Amino acid sequence: MDVLIPSDRIAERVDELAAEIARAYHGKTVTVVGIMTGSLLFLADLVRRMDLPIQIGLLKATSYKGTASTGVVAIDDTGLPPLTGRHVLLLDDILDTGRTISIVVEHLKQREAVSVKTCVLLRKIGRQVVPFEPDYTGFEIPDKFVVGYGLDFDDEYRHLPFIGVLPDPAAA
Ligand code: 5GP
Ligand code: MG
Repeated sequence: MDVLIPSDRIAERVDELAAEIARAYHGKTVTVVGIMTGSLLFLADLVRRMDLPIQIGLLKATSYKGTASTGVVAIDDTGLPPLTGRHVLLLDDILDTGRTISIVVEHLKQREAVSVKTCVLLRKIGRQVVPFEPDYTGFEIPDKFVVGYGLDFDDEYRHLPFIGVLPDPAAA
């Protein structure tokens, strides 16, 4: 597998994001909401570096099977604490077409959060269909299907400490 972003580079960037976010929320409690399962490793590393009072919530948003987007997003938010009056920071692993995160943000606003900001670890260049600007972005990456550091291919590879590109099965 080709390594696109090595683990030490991820750690450096997560440190920078954590410091920037902690400055922005200074004096407030933030409810960090991770979109499962892809944001799991990112969330675990980020919250441990943020010097803030933090609550953690998880939700499921499913839009993908294999490498092809279905374009349909189903949300399961039974794992979320009440958000009324909360400042929510929504985390996702990757911004691709933008469908998932834009739908989830609308959903969280309906749950009466005071503010909803977004942070994505990765943003794919040239793929976005829905206009959406995340408040924080870890890395911009080329239009390749990536795995590792939370991201899967059919539920494998999430545990890898780096972001890698799977060899194209069509070329094998
Ligand atoms: P969007 O709704 O922005 O098109 O897609 C976002 C979701 O699609 C991500 O949360 C992620 O689960 C999945 N996704 C998009 N691109 C990739 C990719 O390159 N690799 C993996 N593993 N998942 C991706
Ligand atoms: Mg995902």
